[in-house]
Amino acid sequence: MKSSNYTVGWICAIKTEYVAAQAFLDEEHNTSSRRSYHDPNDYTLGRMGKHNVVIAVLPNGEYGKSSAAAVMSHMLHSFPNIRVMLMVGIGGGVPSARHDIRLGDVVVSSPSGGNSGVFQFDFGKSVQDQRFYHTGFMNQPPTVLRTAVAGLEASYERKGHKLRKSIDTALSYNPRLGRKYSKPSWSSDRLYISGYIHGGKLACADGCSSDYLIPRQPRGRQEDDPAIHYGLIASGDTLMKDAIIRDTLAEEHDVLCFEMEAAGLMNNFPCLVIRGICDYADSHKNKEWQGYAAMAAAAYAKDLLKRVSPMTPSSEQAPDEDSSSKSHQGQGNTSADFASEALQIYLSDDAYDVVAQRFLRAAEPTFRVHQ
Ligand SMILES: [Zn+2]
Repeated sequence: MKSSNYTVGWICAIKTEYVAAQAFLDEEHNTSSRRSYHDPNDYTLGRMGKHNVVIAVLPNGEYGKSSAAAVMSHMLHSFPNIRVMLMVGIGGGVPSARHDIRLGDVVVSSPSGGNSGVFQFDFGKSVQDQRFYHTGFMNQPPTVLRTAVAGLEASYERKGHKLRKSIDTALSYNPRLGRKYSKPSWSSDRLYISGYIHGGKLACADGCSSDYLIPRQPRGRQEDDPAIHYGLIASGDTLMKDAIIRDTLAEEHDVLCFEMEAAGLMNNFPCLVIRGICDYADSHKNKEWQGYAAMAAAAYAKDLLKRVSPMTPSSEQAPDEDSSSKSHQGQGNTSADFASEALQIYLSDDAYDVVAQRFLRAAEPTFRVHQ
């Protein structure tokens, strides 16, 4: 399979998410010699439904938006016909009276309250004696994905979904994953009141008092499990482990989830962020639910791709010589254009010029850099 035949990009932040994504491939392709010369990414290639998908993971030990932007930039350069980009993985949920978010649920970035679906919560200005003003603004996910999200939401509302069955099937084909990626017991989904801070090194079950748990009932038969929530995802380079700040941002912006990479992608290439909830972004954060939450997010992403028609690689279409616009709307821009812009943001101005020239010398003829 040529690199030009891949039209869906899928970025994971950590290995657990990468493993979950791979478990949902219908077919895995050979990865040898399909990358640009300077591309350091690790890829898994394969077919998911009718789409050829490129999955990449951030370098071991690296988190955050700069790293995500760099991985995406290289991916778009090596696979120039990518038209849809997904950021799929885990995140910290924000349960509230309005949103009954549980561990293992899925949050999908969706425009809400004037926001675009992703909100950079640590970008803004601090004014003395005043609250922090958030000024970051992210682009919307692409129309083709937003319509697919709406279609799937309607289908789920009427008929429910089969994500649990899909996860079980993926685990049955990958029996080694059963222990780490299966759903933990319902009793380990603990939501503490916001003011109660985790103390010591013991797990919550041993070190935290159940007196401070918020009582919740198991989901009923007619309720989706996992539930899918649509709204604002807060992204930033700060790991959120503070229930008070979490609740403040949720109150002010109706945030449903915290994560650390999406802000590096949204303004560079229109993408959709899908997060399985593995903790509540508080001091009780632990890794017990990470495997299952990653599986839930990947299962939703696969279901979503089923609703998106296969995209024809642009190599089979007439070349668009006038696509030099720097519009972020995804109309007329090649993925190499977006790769160039991602690179500009990732690197300082001087470093960008040097690297861009190297790229131009090494890259395929279709790679263009705007100066
Ligand atoms: Zn605890």
